[in-house]
Amino acid sequence: MNISENITQFKKKIPTHVTLVAVSKTKPVSEIMEAYNTGQRVFGENKIQEMEAKWQEMPKDVQWHMIGHVQRNKVKYMAPFVSLIHAVDSERLLKEINKQAKKNDRVIDCLLQVKIAEEDTKFGMEAEEALALLTSETTKNFRNIRVVGLMGMATFTEDEAQLTREFQQLKSFYDAHKERYDFHTLSMGMSGDYEIAIEIGSTMIRVGSAIFGERNY
Ligand SMILES: *Cc1c(COP(=O)(O)O)cnc(C)c1O
Repeated sequence: MNISENITQFKKKIPTHVTLVAVSKTKPVSEIMEAYNTGQRVFGENKIQEMEAKWQEMPKDVQWHMIGHVQRNKVKYMAPFVSLIHAVDSERLLKEINKQAKKNDRVIDCLLQVKIAEEDTKFGMEAEEALALLTSETTKNFRNIRVVGLMGMATFTEDEAQLTREFQQLKSFYDAHKERYDFHTLSMGMSGDYEIAIEIGSTMIRVGSAIFGERNY
């Protein structure tokens, strides 16, 4: 895999208003540094401790995004440095992020993960739950978090009509609440479906294998 060539190609291919999150989970620091040296600064990880270890080792101007499911008892490990948490799916989690952000004297940006896949998925909230969370008095009183938008994962399929339907659903929900909640980030699209996601209105894509090659779990 030519990582720096891939990064360069992506930068050319995607509109400037779309942020590229290079998903570096399972990849060694040496490979992530190749992307860094091409100018990439935003990286996504799905395991908190792995992200923390990489944060320790890498230059401090990297913006680390937590894109995976978050366990509440591990929030404390990323609170000092995480730049965006993509997959917030409960008030209890938001409360813990707020608490740990406060301890670190920070305000942490978060996205709410909304279920869009027609297949059954474990993670994410139904749109109504997300809305309830946004409007709840408890959430409004969290001073150390900022919900800046939404995140969704489409079904793993090549059916473009289905992908379009799923992304469109999230985009409509996003648009309906964007102004009221000051949203500016809609995180949708991965290696296999980012083109459709961008067409529908994604502002942030999370791309792993198309940059770093297949992962061996
Ligand atoms: C792994 C992962 C990605 C990147 O997947 P690729 O198909 O390798 O681009 C994007 N989003 C989330 C939430 C992931 O866990």
